[in-house]
Amino acid sequence: MSSKKVRVRFAPSPTGGLHLGGVRTVLFNYLFAKKQGGEFILRIEDTDQTRFVAGAEEYITETLRWCGLEADEGPHKGGQYGPYRQSERKPLYKEYAEKLIAQGQAYYAFDTSEELENMRQQYKTDENPSPQYGHTLRGKMRNSLTLPAEEVTRLLSEGTPHVVRIKMPDNETISFQDMIRGEVSFQSELVDDKVLLKADGMPTYHLAVVVDDYLMHISHAFRGEEWLSSAPVHVLLWKYLFGLENMPQWAHLPLILGPDGSKLSKRHGNKYGFPIFAMNWTDPRTQDFTEGFRERGFLPEAFVNVLALLGWNDGTDQEVFSLEEL
Ligand code: GLU
Repeated sequence: MSSKKVRVRFAPSPTGGLHLGGVRTVLFNYLFAKKQGGEFILRIEDTDQTRFVAGAEEYITETLRWCGLEADEGPHKGGQYGPYRQSERKPLYKEYAEKLIAQGQAYYAFDTSEELENMRQQYKTDENPSPQYGHTLRGKMRNSLTLPAEEVTRLLSEGTPHVVRIKMPDNETISFQDMIRGEVSFQSELVDDKVLLKADGMPTYHLAVVVDDYLMHISHAFRGEEWLSSAPVHVLLWKYLFGLENMPQWAHLPLILGPDGSKLSKRHGNKYGFPIFAMNWTDPRTQDFTEGFRERGFLPEAFVNVLALLGWNDGTDQEVFSLEEL
């Protein structure tokens, strides 16, 4: 385990209210930090403008306040920092993307959405219905790996829309130690050349999460298991940009499932009693944000207790834990 100060983050995308899984992620990060005398920060990952929901940030901070799981930095603490918003840090990510390009570890891709769709249609097979851009196909597409350097310069100077993609290496085993799963390994050719910088100049989650975890001195990150398949991209970015030394230790938490065995998500709507409480706006995609735990009279202490006991117990018969005990 690294010896740096414990500093963890909760990094939600403001795409709506927090659901159970999100609050459990907060709880694990929060408890881990408090137990180690560390810090817990809130970072709003608002780089996907198409999924941004106005008011969601307030909803998230209010939920944390209600649960008693507030961040250690922010206006409520009277400090000048936090919550951090990725949309306010755009130029920073561009610098890192350019560094990767200069190092030959990322490249510009000029393909239009039509060209990408043609690629998918042309190369799909029964075994591989959605072919990836990386490895086998990147050599057939319009990018700075295939086009002559002058052409790339011309396209860039003319402002041709483009993205920046990571170049996944050949035949490399990418491994890291997960706090829950132990050693996890991926074969590099099976991982796609993920987009790092989008055509609107915004970073994707992959680039922003690595840059910010580095700059914010994050030591440990508890996050949902759905991010495990992205971890090899993050490990490589850590290696290319910062050396691996200060990479946070990840714990990928198993997902909370609904009674039907599928991932509990907004799709389950209010059936299982979330979100935490109503907002005076309605999510345009689900039309479903109308009632929640608080409105139903649940106590925050009981709610937090139940979340802590999902898939965990301390080996005794104790069923009621305060936050301090946890
Ligand atoms: N923005 C991501 C999410 O909404 C954060 C994942 C992570 O913690 O790295 O889940």
